[in-house]
Amino acid sequence: MNPPGEPCDRPRVLACVAHPDDVEFVMAGTLILLAEAGYEPHVMNIADGSLGSTSAGAEETAGRRLAEARAAAESIGAIHHPPIARDLELFYCDRLLRRLAAVVRRINPTIVLVQAPFDYMEDHMNASRLAVSATFSKGMPNYRTDPPVDAAGGPCAVCHAMPHGLRDPLRRRVEPEFLVDITRCIGRKAEMLACHHSQREFLTQSQAMDSFVETMRAMAAELANRYGLAGYAEGWRRRLHLGFGEEDFDPLRDALGESIYECEPNDSGKEQGDGSSDE
Ligand SMILES: [Zn+2]
Repeated sequence: MNPPGEPCDRPRVLACVAHPDDVEFVMAGTLILLAEAGYEPHVMNIADGSLGSTSAGAEETAGRRLAEARAAAESIGAIHHPPIARDLELFYCDRLLRRLAAVVRRINPTIVLVQAPFDYMEDHMNASRLAVSATFSKGMPNYRTDPPVDAAGGPCAVCHAMPHGLRDPLRRRVEPEFLVDITRCIGRKAEMLACHHSQREFLTQSQAMDSFVETMRAMAAELANRYGLAGYAEGWRRRLHLGFGEEDFDPLRDALGESIYECEPNDSGKEQGDGSSDE
């Protein structure tokens, strides 16, 4: 990131999620492609991953996971921002919103990638809500951040990733609005995820994931296959523009045009509810 006051001519994308490996599961491919398209990539894990071990203590686990997350971000040239909460202490609350809003103002992103509004874990849903409100308030001078950072103008597009398992917490299948074809960067995405060494053992024990890298690949392949595409994809739903910019402000589609596959007509008047279907 440029020092304060020094202009940065690259547009910025912020991937803002709950835990140290969440970006790598559902949005790293899109982040890599946006970086290739000229965006300065930023990664923020709001929580520290401190519960991600059955053998090491919370402090040790958080320290190890911070190092892993930094290495993963570095591997694609992304700037990593340190966590501000502990796992399962990530609530939609005044304290965290003011702290996260300060981070968002400093970055002043054009695109913010967030988790699904309905996902299997509460931390993920709270992270999504915090990221949305921190972005919503970035141009409001009367909102006081912690530490104080001046309001940052300019429009921003917010995009929600797919939920873990491609289903909402009530097991309903979630359909994306569009896919990003990540076939050509799936190797780099896998390398990023593999940086999270500590999670190999933990996810095997806690979620019966034999190989978390294979689980990520399978989810990306299933999504592509669902729409008749070969290879791997990440799915996205763009948040309603109200409060964030003009309706036609769509920098992600503009930047990744050739890698975008539309899953349904881009009809802003269509009622979709939470995007779930009962298929
Ligand atoms: Zn997570």
